[in-house]
Amino acid sequence: MLSLSALLALRPGPAVSTNFVYRYELPDKQVEIMRKWDLLPPPEHDRPYTGVLTVIRGTQDELRAQCPIFRPYNWALGCSPVRMNRSTHCIVYIADDATLKAAGWRYDLVLRHELGHCNGWRHEAYGLWGVY
Ligand SMILES: [Zn+2]
Repeated sequence: MLSLSALLALRPGPAVSTNFVYRYELPDKQVEIMRKWDLLPPPEHDRPYTGVLTVIRGTQDELRAQCPIFRPYNWALGCSPVRMNRSTHCIVYIADDATLKAAGWRYDLVLRHELGHCNGWRHEAYGLWGVY
């Protein structure tokens, strides 16, 4: 199976993929801590997404244009705009690799966070981490 980056490299134009499934593993203790900080979704939303998934990679400016919720002083790392049919087709924006590296984030963790939103998770408070 092709990795996401290999898949994206094959496609001309914007970096878009659909129906991509990322497998991730974290120690339970780390998951617990990240959930406390609102970095990972609660268990009921922390599961694979079963609808059509579109992941779009972009620069800070591109993510800010798609998701105006980012605050100017935060990194724009990932977001999933609320849509009428998000339960069946979810669009996730994730910062490009250079941005994630500079911010100290891993792609799979940002994706896992955003898939929680695709599955219906909503933050009670916004704005700590640049991932919405
Ligand atoms: Zn979020």
